Amino acid sequence: MVLKLYFIDPSCDEAVAGSFESYIHEARYLAKRAAERLQNPKDTDFARVFNVIFKTPKTDTAKYLGGPSLWQHMREFSEDWEPKTVYEQTLFVLIDFATSWTRTNDREAAHVRIYADHGARWEINAADSTDGYDPVNHLILTGDFDNLIQGQAFTCWMKPKDDTLMSNENSERTTIDLCSSILDGLIDQEASAPMSLQDFTAGRNQQWVAKQGGKINIGDLGEHLLTRIIFHEFMHCAEYGLDDAPADADSERLTSGWAYCMSLKKKTASASAESMAYLALWAGMAEGGYTMDRRWDAVPGSNGLPDVGDFSDDELNEDEREKAAEDRKKRENNHKWAEDHPHNGCVRGEMTFYEGLTQ
Ligand SMILES: [Zn+2]
Repeated sequence: MVLKLYFIDPSCDEAVAGSFESYIHEARYLAKRAAERLQNPKDTDFARVFNVIFKTPKTDTAKYLGGPSLWQHMREFSEDWEPKTVYEQTLFVLIDFATSWTRTNDREAAHVRIYADHGARWEINAADSTDGYDPVNHLILTGDFDNLIQGQAFTCWMKPKDDTLMSNENSERTTIDLCSSILDGLIDQEASAPMSLQDFTAGRNQQWVAKQGGKINIGDLGEHLLTRIIFHEFMHCAEYGLDDAPADADSERLTSGWAYCMSLKKKTASASAESMAYLALWAGMAEGGYTMDRRWDAVPGSNGLPDVGDFSDDELNEDEREKAAEDRKKRENNHKWAEDHPHNGCVRGEMTFYEGLTQ
């Protein structure tokens, strides 16, 4: 197997005052654990987590035909996407991320290059700050730089037209920029939210936990987790091309966070970088003894009711289309996905200790 390569700029180790790579290792370890748990037929708890995130059970046989929009965009709308079920697509990404990468110091050979230089290397068009060029990696940024740099992280993959001149550069390169809002949080580890899951499960963030009133929510935990951010950004690389899809309910909403994941329907969820990152995060939570709130009768797939969210009709064959229409009817009076549903703790990201489970 040919391994894909990642390069870590020295600014990253500086930012974490230690080994930045340990966060990548944790992200890949979570991918491995998620894949193992998904493939274990006895692991009904994790099957349920999958069901909640992707709005469909592992056993769903409908094939996803189009592929993620970013994947398609990177290939100028290719026919090469091999149709997969949501389960197959998820498993492919998790296993590939867990097993097919290694570190390199050869920046030009790297598929993914990670920076924590606060955007210093970008040359931005001063007139409108919407076009940027990275003269180190020879990539073009389109979009509002001032806005991007305010977020937690962003990726760039667009090559200049004369890219063939860059003969030493990997033609499938993506850069990840970690931004100040996440880097600043690294300074005061003691008092701040956990940056790695290991920190959290080892009880190193007691002050933060106390601030949450002892009730930990997966969304609050995931928000500042560097491991999650790295996981999410790797999902945008050329191989996976997962999306920052606009939330189905509200296109203005952020493309990260547990609430965002819960707002996605089946198709957008299966193509979303953040859904994959949160699935992996839940796999890791078990190591600390936690799982998703489990009031079975109110959650998708638990009571024989079909789930919200379908592929659109033109992506289904005739049988699937008929079933989808039936399912839609059954769903009409079902509000189980509403955030204020009293028994729907998993939609609000509530976590519970395994030992506290009654069923
Ligand atoms: Zn993203």
